[in-house]
Amino acid sequence: MKTVSLDGAVVPFAEGQTVMECALAANISIPHLCFLPGFLPHGSCRLCTVKIDGRLASACTQPAMAGQHVEIDTEELRQVRLSLLRMLFVEGNHYCPACEKSGSCRLQKAAYDEGMLDLHYRPWYPKRKMDASHPDVLIDRDRCIFCELCVKASRDVDGKNIFGISGRGIDTHLVVNSKSGLLADTDISAQDRAVEVCPVGAILVKGRGFEIPIGKRLYD
Ligand code: SF4
Repeated sequence: MKTVSLDGAVVPFAEGQTVMECALAANISIPHLCFLPGFLPHGSCRLCTVKIDGRLASACTQPAMAGQHVEIDTEELRQVRLSLLRMLFVEGNHYCPACEKSGSCRLQKAAYDEGMLDLHYRPWYPKRKMDASHPDVLIDRDRCIFCELCVKASRDVDGKNIFGISGRGIDTHLVVNSKSGLLADTDISAQDRAVEVCPVGAILVKGRGFEIPIGKRLYD
């Protein structure tokens, strides 16, 4: 059987598996945000950056190959992840205590896991339009980290193709595929996979804020 070395552990892999998939199968943790099993990976958040034979690469898109030497938990890579997380935080408005997703947010968890204690960079304070037009679902665009999971879930699982990402750099934002551009004019439902899959508090079900007490939330 073909194997790779993950931080010195010799791990077998099946043909077609990525470095991330073979690490997950071996219970070896590689931090990630935009990757979710079952969805096509595209390596946009770069949080799963590892070093493969001396070269930086995103583990979720890199195919596992026999004899690869993969470094995951090194000081250099911890600093890379910390920088990426800080940039994600300053690009949006992530005030955890005021966010309904606090305690169940994958961005917040990743920041805790990497020991992030400050923003380091100057915050952008973006002011992207909120969409509260739908009776059951709300979008807070300033919390979006552009992982595209809602885009894939809406298109490939819900069969509705409601979401997309538009713009570049500071103008990047989540768009809604309806004539008015508003969620009210789509057939989204609070039960859609696209709503459930959002790793942060950017897509929320209305009327459920702070429902789970502190201590019982997903990552408490
Ligand atoms: S709204 Fe949520 S799921 Fe969609 S791209 Fe933004 S962070 Fe990802």
